[in-house]
Amino acid sequence: MLPPGHIAGGYLTGKIASQFIPALNTPELLALTAFAGFLPDLDFFLVFIKAKKFVNTDESINHRTFLTHAPLLYLLLFVVCYLIFPEYRVLEFAFVIGTWSHIFIYTFSSDGIQWL
Ligand SMILES: [Zn+2]
Repeated sequence: MLPPGHIAGGYLTGKIASQFIPALNTPELLALTAFAGFLPDLDFFLVFIKAKKFVNTDESINHRTFLTHAPLLYLLLFVVCYLIFPEYRVLEFAFVIGTWSHIFIYTFSSDGIQWL
């Protein structure tokens, strides 16, 4: 999926989540969920290093198998930050909601994603 799709997905997921977490319904936090929705795809730098070009036509390099697309990584980061920095819990929710929206969108794509 292209970056605008993930950014929109992060924003919309944040907007839906704000029905359950009203503090999330601010422009800044929704911008964070939108950015976090795109964040896992910043691994295109790793693809560049592996493929030696930005446009990857090598099907053996699938960025969805990278650690950046591991939902448990973001859940672990969320739990650790949630416990260590309780004053930033809304930010932490925005982060995990955005990153998981990225993974959730891939779940329904033809290639799928490795949830574990
Ligand atoms: Zn991705």
